[in-house]
Amino acid sequence: MPRFDIDRFRPDVAANFIGGHKVKGAGEVFEVLRPSDGALLAPLHAVDLTQLDEAVTGAAHAQKQSGWGTMEPRGRMRILRRWADLIEKDAEWLAPLEAVGSTRTLAEVRAWDLPYTAECIRFFAEFADKHGGEIGATSADKLGFTLTEPYGVVAAISPWNLPLVMAAWKVAPALAAGNAVILKPSELTPFSVVRLAELAVEAGMPAGIFNVVQGGGADIGDALVRADAVSKVSFTGSTRTGRAIMTACAQTGPKPATLELGGKSPQIVFADADLDKASAVVAKAITLNAGQVCVAGSRLLVHESVADPVIARILDAFAAHRIGETWNSKTTMGPIVSERQIETIDGIVVRALAGGAEALAGGGRAAAPQQGSYYAPTLLSRVSQDDEAVQGEIFGPVLTVQRFADEEEAFALANGTRYGLAAGVHTGDLNRALRATRALEAGTVWVNRYGRSDDFILPTGGYKQSGVGKDLGREAYLASCKSKTALIQF
Ligand code: NAD
Repeated sequence: MPRFDIDRFRPDVAANFIGGHKVKGAGEVFEVLRPSDGALLAPLHAVDLTQLDEAVTGAAHAQKQSGWGTMEPRGRMRILRRWADLIEKDAEWLAPLEAVGSTRTLAEVRAWDLPYTAECIRFFAEFADKHGGEIGATSADKLGFTLTEPYGVVAAISPWNLPLVMAAWKVAPALAAGNAVILKPSELTPFSVVRLAELAVEAGMPAGIFNVVQGGGADIGDALVRADAVSKVSFTGSTRTGRAIMTACAQTGPKPATLELGGKSPQIVFADADLDKASAVVAKAITLNAGQVCVAGSRLLVHESVADPVIARILDAFAAHRIGETWNSKTTMGPIVSERQIETIDGIVVRALAGGAEALAGGGRAAAPQQGSYYAPTLLSRVSQDDEAVQGEIFGPVLTVQRFADEEEAFALANGTRYGLAAGVHTGDLNRALRATRALEAGTVWVNRYGRSDDFILPTGGYKQSGVGKDLGREAYLASCKSKTALIQF
């Protein structure tokens, strides 16, 4: 196979997309590195506050004047479907662009991220003419009904871990509902979404309806949330940033905000589970994208009678990983996004080991072929519930293991953090599975599997400090609409 030509995939220096055009930012300049080898990918020219204001004002104008929110809904649907088709057709360019600049392997992006992004857009496109409101039951001398209407301009702020997919979750329902959108991606993985915006215009979306602005969170992200013309915010990222965004929404609105935040999700293995299958699922759920997944199953809770065989299988699965560059076809686990993130991961692991934990696997950086930031799949035992490694989101390939004696203890350990994004349960007992589904304090409970499917109709979102509101599903579409009540007296 010919060597993959990494240097072909250089993003354009004009990396903002405002009013239907690529625009070079006049603000701060960031150096965006390739996570796989630490080399400079490209400088990122962020917008300044004047350009941000132009983008927001332009989006508000376009939303009112272009007819995007008032056109025949199936017309909007057709444009969104064309957009999804163009995204898939652009795979030869878009997939490597995504993989070179992020932690996603090229194989994963081709097989999953890109088709999933396109299908997510198609899913929400189909909502455009499916929900217009409801007739209320009133007395016969009047007619009462609700009307759904777009908010106007929605601000979407996304993280770095799955750049295209996370953007699609935010942008697709908002656009399908007739809003204009300003997307601010993470400054670590800013480039691939610009191509999405270009393709949207090519598909027939009016200029100014889908915009991308680049910049840091505390300045451009915050200013975007606070902008007068922004009437709804959709955010995915850390719990700490989610709090800051909610505060900004309260101070400048109040504006509604959907917040998809961090997690510390348990995977519970009962003695009656299929141990081969459960162990494989547990290992995958913490090494997928090198653990940089909000729903990473980062806490293994295993019944004491089967702990040793389950741990042995997980160690085998960890050892089988080929760690390497995202563009290497043999790679099964890619890099950590940045040196800063690897220091965060390693800091927690080092403190855990100093506090008495034992690393059954990993426990530090991985030997890798390049200069990039790689972390070894790590299994930490001898941890207790109050430890930082058990309580705090690590966002890397680090799994803790705790043993339990009975179901009650398993559920108590599972629920014993401030997060509640997802939980996995492995059992052969249907009654136990159903009890777990009720008992676990999590926005999603997976039984005998771990991870989302392509069932976009199933919403995702967190309990407790893992979030407010839902992405995906009917919920995400409805959260992109205002609801007006009308009452007509005959
Ligand atoms: P982050 O919170 O640091 O940044 C996320 C985005 O917010 C970036 O675009 C950043 O520039 C922006 N931002 C930062 N401060 C801001 C501010 N004050 N105002 C406005 N915008 C601001 O998160 P991250 O490190 O990019 O992503 C990892 C986090 O995202 C993890 O905690 C992970 O669990 C979470 N995440 C959650 C989900 C979910 O569905 N619940 C999905 C993916 C990632």
